[in-house]
Amino acid sequence: MYPDVNLFIDGAWTPSASGKTLEVLNPATGEPLGRLAHAGIADLDRALEAAQKGFDIWRKVSANERSKIMRKAAGLMRERTDAIARLMTMEQGKPLAEAKGELGVAADVIEWCAEESRRTYGRVIPARAEGVYQLVIKEPVGPVACFTPWNFPVNQAVRKLSAGLAAGCSIILKGPEETPASCAELIRAYVDAGVPAGVLGLVFGVPSEISEYLIPSPIIRKISFTGSTAVGKHLASLAGQHMKRVTMELGGHAPAIVFDDADVVYATKILAANKFRNAGQVCVAPTRFLIQEKVYDQFVETFVAAARKLKVGDGLEAGTTMGPLANARRITAMEGFITDAVKHGGKVETGGNRIGNKGYFFEPTVLTGVSKEARVMNEEPFGPLAIISPFSTFDEVVTEANRLPFGLAAYAYTASAKTANAIAAQVETGMMSINHHGLALPEVPFGGVKDSGYGSEGGLEAIEAYLNTKFVSQAGL
Ligand code: NAD
Repeated sequence: MYPDVNLFIDGAWTPSASGKTLEVLNPATGEPLGRLAHAGIADLDRALEAAQKGFDIWRKVSANERSKIMRKAAGLMRERTDAIARLMTMEQGKPLAEAKGELGVAADVIEWCAEESRRTYGRVIPARAEGVYQLVIKEPVGPVACFTPWNFPVNQAVRKLSAGLAAGCSIILKGPEETPASCAELIRAYVDAGVPAGVLGLVFGVPSEISEYLIPSPIIRKISFTGSTAVGKHLASLAGQHMKRVTMELGGHAPAIVFDDADVVYATKILAANKFRNAGQVCVAPTRFLIQEKVYDQFVETFVAAARKLKVGDGLEAGTTMGPLANARRITAMEGFITDAVKHGGKVETGGNRIGNKGYFFEPTVLTGVSKEARVMNEEPFGPLAIISPFSTFDEVVTEANRLPFGLAAYAYTASAKTANAIAAQVETGMMSINHHGLALPEVPFGGVKDSGYGSEGGLEAIEAYLNTKFVSQAGL
């Protein structure tokens, strides 16, 4: 049973002041699942007032106590995994096993941030005069406005909420309108664990109306956004006009480079699994497969075989390995990319079509021979679409990897330590994983460079992003 989802403001689940609601659809059927409260200005004003009040309370809660509450929330997320995973699959489409995996990672993120909340150390700098103490103090930045998308309804939110709470901030989250119920369960776990009223707020509505109202508000001190580069640039400029700190986790177009000394079968297995996970709607998904000439044919053959093996279906059905796309926009986008790629010399090795006309199912698709001018070689595909191209030299593949304005994730497979070091040094990227898929753990930095954004959502950097640095110089009387 899928619930109707309300706003969460000042410690209470509440309909919007106007009574306005939005429909939530099941991407496996295209049918309505439930309804979602739609915030207007009156609701946002209440959320802002509550966030200020919540900040004044939470910043004074000791780090030790914050950590205890957060660890309890992690435990509740683990206990509730089966029920929340079902909601996530119903609203987002991903197979149940992937939804459970996402929730396991969410609990890990909360725990890691809980531990780090007790280590937001400052420092003492030796002074030039006797009796002077020069102190560097870390303070929470203040109430934060966060904006998270629909591809990982819980994990995009948990990284922002947990780092912010660990630092002592209050947060207003504009959650994903298309996948609200599992995200709301994350808030519920935190609240049931003891996070005081006002510290967390959850709103949904028209994204541009909410961001354009929250970002300029003098109450909000920081903005954190995950989504497309185009929207990220718009929100970053708005934040700039009001001198607000920002974290921007934006799109990518990850090169996956396979050198001819690599174990091709192993590389294909890992890369295909990560290409089609969440139906390719992942910002760090490998997307431009760049394969050295000698192993190109073998790679295409094994990759196509892996794509054909996937069982596409309703994520709630046992045996499904790829669910539907999350919304109708992605179907239109896939069809547009493929038609354009074929016009630019592309050959569809497998897939290429929507499956049926009920729900948003699409075939796992592999394209070869696509020229660099094609849209899909320049825009993030964000779907189950792999484009495989051959290369001959190291310099040539570095040029192609760095050709686009994006720099989020990159992958390489090689048996040579020298090649591994060289490729890690030369690809312009925020994250690089070599000979395995090793990104997005709670304890390691996660973020991009160039048009892929600014800041980091994992590792120590995640908490630092929610802290101000204050310097105090104190002399004895
Ligand atoms: P979109 O650009 O309309 O929206 C992307 C996200 O930004 C959504 O969550 C949306 O609610 C939010 N958003 C849009 N306009 C906003 C505004 N003015 N203020 C605040 N939030 C706003 O696109 P979409 O159709 O939802 O997704 C398509 C593209 O978005 C994909 O091609 C992909 O590049 C990108 N995307 C990236 C991620 C990621 O993890 N980095 C996640 C989802 C979508």
